Amino acid sequence: MWQAEVRVDLDAIRDNVATLRAGTTAEVMAVVKADGYGHGMLPVARAALAGGATWLGVATLDEALTLRRAGLTAPVLAWLLAPGLPLHDGVAADIDLNAGSLAQLGELVTAARRAQRPARVHLKLDTGLARGGATPAEWPALLEAAAKAQAEGEAEIVGAWSHFVYADAPGHETIDHQLAVFAEGLATAEQYGIEPRYRHIANSAATLTRPDAHYDLVRPGVAVYGLSPLPPEHPTGLRPAMTARARVTLTKRVPAGQGVSYGHAYHTSRETTLALVPLGYGDGVPRHASNVGPVSLGGRTRTIAGRVCMDQIILDCGDDPVAAGDVAVLFGPGDDGTPTATDWAEAIGTINYEIVTRFGGTRVPRVYDGTAGVPNEAASGRLSDDGTAGTAGTAGTAGTAAEAAPGRLSDDVTADLPAGSRADAPSDHDTGNPRAGASPSRSDARGRGSDARGRGSDARGRGSEGFVARMADSSVGQPGEGA
Ligand SMILES: *Cc1c(COP(=O)(O)O)cnc(C)c1O
Repeated sequence: MWQAEVRVDLDAIRDNVATLRAGTTAEVMAVVKADGYGHGMLPVARAALAGGATWLGVATLDEALTLRRAGLTAPVLAWLLAPGLPLHDGVAADIDLNAGSLAQLGELVTAARRAQRPARVHLKLDTGLARGGATPAEWPALLEAAAKAQAEGEAEIVGAWSHFVYADAPGHETIDHQLAVFAEGLATAEQYGIEPRYRHIANSAATLTRPDAHYDLVRPGVAVYGLSPLPPEHPTGLRPAMTARARVTLTKRVPAGQGVSYGHAYHTSRETTLALVPLGYGDGVPRHASNVGPVSLGGRTRTIAGRVCMDQIILDCGDDPVAAGDVAVLFGPGDDGTPTATDWAEAIGTINYEIVTRFGGTRVPRVYDGTAGVPNEAASGRLSDDGTAGTAGTAGTAGTAAEAAPGRLSDDVTADLPAGSRADAPSDHDTGNPRAGASPSRSDARGRGSDARGRGSDARGRGSEGFVARMADSSVGQPGEGA
């Protein structure tokens, strides 16, 4: 029995990468930073590789090392490096590292000496974002130092790269300008004898709209997860991989004029049925979604009534026959008109990136669908013998997948009751709620907690072996079927 979950469709991730790959002659680096935009870095990385990605991109050294510890051997680039990190560990682990300043290059050279092998370096040129990278003024000095380090066997200059300001606004003048600055920077590099194998500047938006920006490697992130960074008039053929949903914990009839949730920021306009949905800002629901976030329940999309609480939201369902146990979908692939992460972003004034990434926390169990990138033994149901098998462990604490051993998984499934057949007591975990107390749903949560502990130790001890059990969810619809 599950109460709230984030489902991630690994086959959609694989297929999205295959779609991106089919649109370019460049290689594809799937960007899996920030725990795979909240989808789970390791399963996502494997699914992306299954879809034809040949590189993985992350922000931090820790993320890159986590990929290596999990046994992934594909080239990995890490680009956000503060001074003093153990970069020699990165060099030793064959991780490609970014240098956007003389100081950063100096650290890589030091790391190379310590690791006794050349650092694999991507030189970053700031073509206008004013974030990472050397300015055009600093670029020649960086090139000179890089050429020297390469000549001395301390660095292998694998890449030269940059990042767009505004590629999500196709036709924006900054795009052509940055491409011109980048081309000029590459020409300057050539004068210093640096002709890297990989020149790269395209994020998802440029991958989708600017083939002339693809060079040797594209770096899509959000598109891997099936979300578009582009305005709606640009169809992408991608499928959103994440679904966030929860079971109604309680319904009740209330009269017209009833104030709802903290601050009574919403009042009912008629006698109506309220439904409590157990997802709140502690799970990733932005509090800014108060009175605006869309949620599908009972075949209709409704708007959150009143404030988003830490653990729950409330829907005003009129006279519709909604019941405890019914499944409410916050966002998913958008089938049958259910909301998408993009709808959520529009409703609250942010970007779809932030919506899915917010749901990557540890509180809501993350469950994987599909088999893309899943080792064969897991797909065929074979267990590893350490009792933590069937794991779709994601890095460390975020490992909350369908990770029970299959036997246990099927226990879960058989314990699953048909939607609406069980009226869970309300689970009032809200801070400041005087009615908080033990409830049947809490014992469910505790059972899941022990799963989570097993997962946690799994992720630490044998992340590389993590694999995914396909969750045969017998009693409720798959993501996107609506609820
Ligand atoms: C996050 C990131 C990407 C991916 O961007 P999307 O817009 O998600 O495709 C690519 N490159 C760099 C340097 C990034 O930081």
